[in-house]
Amino acid sequence: MPSPIGHALAGLTAAWIADLVPGDRDWRTAPASASLYRRSGNGLTLACAVLGASPDLDLLFAAHRTVTHSVGAVAFVAIFAAASAALADRPIPRVAAMCAAAYASHLLLDWLGVDEFPPRGIQGLWPLSHKWFISYADFFRQTARREIFTAPSMIKNLEAIVQEIAILGPVVVAVWLVRVKALSGLSSEVTRRDHAPQ
Ligand SMILES: [Zn+2]
Repeated sequence: MPSPIGHALAGLTAAWIADLVPGDRDWRTAPASASLYRRSGNGLTLACAVLGASPDLDLLFAAHRTVTHSVGAVAFVAIFAAASAALADRPIPRVAAMCAAAYASHLLLDWLGVDEFPPRGIQGLWPLSHKWFISYADFFRQTARREIFTAPSMIKNLEAIVQEIAILGPVVVAVWLVRVKALSGLSSEVTRRDHAPQ
């Protein structure tokens, strides 16, 4: 199971990939002179990064990788995001898709990762099925979730985080560069429109 850092990177990437889909996305742009936070998509991008890591909050309860790691939870996130978008007067399908994709990226990473604790994997199809799913691809390392401040746990987690950054880092950078290019035209269009004589 990857670390929260790997999961947050995947959630962030999901948000930026959604920004590549043409349509009502002017509000996702910012001029090149704006802060990095605004250029990366403000609070919604941050929310997607948090959503990417959030399913593991179930570690606080005794039901890890069950309901929270399922298509049922993804559907719940999509509905909640759609309602929030409606209240905030934002494009509902785009916001719902972004949040659902960010959350679903967690399921994908866990499915691709090592899981040393049986039953291995995630109950990905809940509530349709209670079966556990894992790819056995062992793409991401096992992280230590107990006694995390002991030397062996810290080394294990550091190794996992370095590997996650090595795998996801290039993807994050590539998607960012494509996003900047895709949105730069829109941003200058918006600026021109805002400054056009009425
Ligand atoms: Zn998880």
